[in-house]
Amino acid sequence: MNSQLSAPTDKQWRTIVNNDHRADSQFWYGVTTTKIFCKPSCPSRLPKRNHVITFASPQEALQAGFRPCKRCRPLDRIVSNQVWIDETDHILQTRYNQKLSLHELASLVHGDPSYLRHTYKKVTGITLQQKLTQIRLEHARNLLVCSTHPVSQVGAKVGIPNTAYFISLFKKQYGKTPLHYRHDQH
Ligand SMILES: [Zn+2]
Repeated sequence: MNSQLSAPTDKQWRTIVNNDHRADSQFWYGVTTTKIFCKPSCPSRLPKRNHVITFASPQEALQAGFRPCKRCRPLDRIVSNQVWIDETDHILQTRYNQKLSLHELASLVHGDPSYLRHTYKKVTGITLQQKLTQIRLEHARNLLVCSTHPVSQVGAKVGIPNTAYFISLFKKQYGKTPLHYRHDQH
């Protein structure tokens, strides 16, 4: 057996068992019975631990004669957390005016909901909900200045149909009510 091939450590094995994508750029694993290699987060059926070996890079797996898994595509560009956050922000920017659950959002960026929530906060310093509210209020501010829609409609158009709630969020963010804000801009 090639000396470069090594069995997973307990920690590596746990990330494979949990499909933990935080380890995706740290190691890759191959299944000796199928000669296929995967990212730790691969959702395919869990192989037997004694059939698993690990690689430090996808190249190493290829050199050892393993083929990339069609499911997790370990040769694809490794998505860093920042890229993932940017994708998330892009979706928030385009869908801010709709109802969007954490689960829907996570599935749109191909991630686990609780891991997305955790990573987003860790990388950006604010929660997903805070970010979504910021985006909605920025759009509301533009609508207040550039349109004549009543305040209730402005709230509804940016995804906050509860007018009282919209006013209180707006005031908290900008220090004045939507109506005052509109008047002060004209
Ligand atoms: Zn895979």
